[in-house]
Parts: sequence; structure tokens; C-alpha cells
Amino acid sequence: MPPSVPLSLFEAWQEAPADDELRLVPIGGLGEFGMNALAVHTAKSLFLVDCGQLFPSDDEPGIDSIVPDFAYLEPFADRIDAVLLTHGHEDHLGALPYFLERWPVPVYGTAFTLGLLEGKLREFGLDRSLLRRVEDFQRLPVGCGEIEAEWIPITHSIPDACALALHTPWGVILHSGDFKLDATPTDGRLTGVARLKALGDEGVALLMSDSTNVMRSGWSPSEEACREGLREAFRRTSGKLFVALFSSHIHRLQTLLDLAFEENRVVVPLGRSLERNIAVARELKRLRLPDDLFIQPNEAPLFAPNRILTLCTGSQGEAMSATARLLRREVKGLAIERGDRLVLSSRAIPGHEVAISKMLDEAARQGAETDTETLGTVHVSGHGQREEAAELIRWTRPRWMMPVHGTYRHLQAHGRIAEELGWSSDRVLLVEGGTCIRFRHGHEPEIPGSVPVGKYFVDQGVEHRVDARVVRDRLILQEDGIVIVTLVIDGATGELASDPAILTRGFVVLSDDEAYSDLLRNAARKAFEEAPPEVRQDKDLLIELLRQTLRRIIRKTTETRPMVVPMLLEA
Ligand SMILES: [Zn+2]
Ligand SMILES: [Zn+2]
Repeated sequence: MPPSVPLSLFEAWQEAPADDELRLVPIGGLGEFGMNALAVHTAKSLFLVDCGQLFPSDDEPGIDSIVPDFAYLEPFADRIDAVLLTHGHEDHLGALPYFLERWPVPVYGTAFTLGLLEGKLREFGLDRSLLRRVEDFQRLPVGCGEIEAEWIPITHSIPDACALALHTPWGVILHSGDFKLDATPTDGRLTGVARLKALGDEGVALLMSDSTNVMRSGWSPSEEACREGLREAFRRTSGKLFVALFSSHIHRLQTLLDLAFEENRVVVPLGRSLERNIAVARELKRLRLPDDLFIQPNEAPLFAPNRILTLCTGSQGEAMSATARLLRREVKGLAIERGDRLVLSSRAIPGHEVAISKMLDEAARQGAETDTETLGTVHVSGHGQREEAAELIRWTRPRWMMPVHGTYRHLQAHGRIAEELGWSSDRVLLVEGGTCIRFRHGHEPEIPGSVPVGKYFVDQGVEHRVDARVVRDRLILQEDGIVIVTLVIDGATGELASDPAILTRGFVVLSDDEAYSDLLRNAARKAFEEAPPEVRQDKDLLIELLRQTLRRIIRKTTETRPMVVPMLLEA
């Protein structure tokens, strides 16, 4: 496992693979959490494993989601066979609406995965007849049938998650999907251990495995470990109990619904995605509950506060979520009061810590108890730790091993686990997004170089995609504001027709600070008057000159770097 060096471009990436070549191209999900998408490409087949999005963080203002740039697929656009899904989390299927809009190909996945996807496609007005449902342990041909895919159940924090075995002429490629090894899953659906071991006996060429929690030692606690901590929350709350969680976490929902039933509380589900996912889970019988457990928010005043459990979206402090609406007192019948409790049964996604802290603060201000430390465990991760990663390697004994689903440090730590188990370093493929891995019969895997990959920012308010530069501009505006300088030029003489005008927004000095505006006005006038004739005659050069001049003086006087926009008008 040599240290990763920047790769040069794989020059032949736009040419289809040769007959004896299998290409694997991780388009995303390596070196980052999110945007999981792997292209599997041969002369006869081309398909994706997963097609996820990345959640924007606080430093990507106004962005709703980030999806992969599928530039690698463009030259082969008419050849794409399918998308195979491991499970229904957004980082594995969130980019599908954008992908399917461009390439409407069949999508394979288990029942709950497709159940979630169906709602998304309906929302985007996309064709749902593309969905192909598979059962646990089912094996079927993809595209022309050169490669067969097999879905093997594996435990994770969403129903119907699978590992994916690809039976190829180059050997079995096993993708773990996201997983933990939970011996007591809430829904009783166990990992297909026997099948994974059998694949190991038959021979696995490559194992690609989840690296999320490999830096934590030991085993991850079972999902069942939350039950007692959450029960404590019920028992210690004299008023209404609010629990915020990920809306696709059906196992956690099941635990909470069981507890609500046992502890004699009715349940108010709040939030569009939560209600939708509950409906999907109930329809597919992935959630068991008595019919009269749920009530509407407006029925809440009919019950004593200590008889109410509210389940809500917004565990990351999202402004449009149910929890945020509760805190803004927009939900009729469910005001937060003294004696109530808000429990976050989730982890903080990096980048959301500030929003979460603000949300908890506001809940406390309104009288709710927010401490979870004393309750015990109220959340466990859906990703296995070090020993679970090791166990999968031992079961499947792959010829080569490739860590996926993590930042570079996670992938590296995962590679070390394999090395400690006896895998020599040249059998561990430590690669990042865009790296092309080539398998040829009778050869060791090769890395011919990288292919173009990247991110598209999606702002749902406008068109689908926005340029990365827009995001950078928003950051500058958010940080230091904008300064607009307008020069009116006399068309006949080529001289200034009036004094330059200065307008600022969000900038540390207000426009009506006359002294400072004068400073900028004078600088702009001087730059214009002293500009050589060839600059004055070229609008672009003149704008650039003004921008540089004002930036310099603003930086010197205020130590800020606002966006500087010079405008030229002809009078
Ligand atoms: Zn994931
Ligand atoms: Zn997942």
C-alpha cells in the first residue's frame, strides 16, 4: 500500500475497454463521505454501483445537494446498462434523479431501497417503470449477461441493505455496501454470513469494503443498545417527548414505536420525509405497529403531555425541518414547554455542529430538557468498527482488497487492517475518486491513471446545477460582502462624466460612511485617469484594473476581501 501520489490522466479513458479488460472507476465515495458511485466497465458492459449525493455543509451556502460529475460516462452514453443499488441512503441513491434524467436506464435494488427511490422519482416527474426489484440472495444478469450481480443481505441502519457480489469473467468482485455486523438486528434480518463465507471459499478477486468507522477499535454496539437509553428518556420525561432522527432509520423508529406502546404514549410523526418513509415501510411490512398508535398534531391537545411522543426530522438543525418548525412555534397543538424533552437520536454530520448546537439552545430556552448524557445510549452508528471490517476480510479472503466509503485516512486505516491480517501491501488498493483500476486476465491489477471526476452543486431554487464558482462567490459574499463601484464615462470625450459611485452590501464599512466612500471613489478615479490609453479602451482590462486597485486598498484598510464589482456605464 504505497502512499498515494497525484495521478496523471489516463489518456485512453475515452476509448472503450479492450476485450480482456475490466475497468473499475470510483466516480465518488473515496476520499470523502458521500457521492458513492462506482462505474464497472468492460467491452460489453457498463453499469454503476450506487449513485449517491453529498450533503452540503455550512460552507456551501444555498446549496441543496452535491452530485457527482459523470464526465467519465459521457463518451459511452449510449452503452450504459443499469444502476445497481446497495441500499437506500441518500449518499448511495441521492444523485439518481439527476442521473436518470440524463440516462434513463433500469435501476436494480431491494424492496425498501426502491420504495424510497420511487417517491423521489415521483417528485422529479421521472419514469418509475425503470425500477427492477430484487430479493435477498437473488442473482441476475446485468446488461448483456456477461456479469451477474447478487444481492446479499447485510446489517446497516436502513432496511434491506445489501452487499453486492459481481460475478465477472475476471472473478468475483464483492462490494460490502455500508454495513455493521449486528447479531441482533431490530428487524431480525441477519447478514448472509454463510453466503459471504461460501464466496470466500469459491474465491473473491476483489473486496471493496466500508471504511466509515474502521478507526474505532472493537465491535460496534448493536442497534438494540439504544433501547434502554431511549426507554430512560420516556421514563424521565414528565411532559412531551420529542425525538429527532434520520427519517430513513426505520429500525430506530421501530424501537421508538415499541417503547411508545409499552410506555403508553401516542405518536405524532412530523416532517414530510419521515411521514413518507413510514408509509413506505408500513406498506412493505418493514415496520410493525398498532393502527391507533399515530395521531395528528392537532389531536395532541386531547392527550396529557406525558402521553405524547413526537418523532421529527431535523436532527442536523436543518431550517426547514420539523424540529425547526416546532422551535419556531409553527406546529399547532405542539408547543415546547417546561417538562418536555428533546432527544437527538442521531450523530452530527460534519459541518452541521453549529446548527445543531443552536437548535438545542433554542429548545432549552423554551424549557425542554436536552441533555442525553445521563440517559445512556440513544444512538449507535450503522457502520461497523475495526473488528467487523477484519471479520469481512477473514470471511471472504479476497485476492485484493480496496477500502471505500471514507476520507483518505479512513481508507488508509482500513488498508492497515488488511495488512495486519496478513495481506501484503501490494494486495491493498488504496485509491481515491477518479482513479481507474484495470483488471486483465493473467495480470496484477493496474492503475493506468485517473479519469475526470468532480462535483456538481445543486440549488433546487434555480436550475439543477450551479457552478463551483457560484458557491465560492456566495462564501465571499457571506464572509465579507460586496462593493460595487460604478463609473459613468462620457462617450464623446472618453472621460468620466461624473464622480464614481460606491455601493456596499454586507461590507464592514457602510455605503453612507462618506469618508470611506471618498477614499474608494478617489482611488477609482485615480486608477481610471492614470490608466494607459490601451487599458481605457478595453472594457475588460479597465474592469480588471479597477477591481485590483480597489481590492488592494480595501484589504489594506479593512483586512477584508469583499467581492469587488466594477461597472462601466457610457453616458
Ligand atoms: Zn453510505
Ligand atoms: Zn448507508
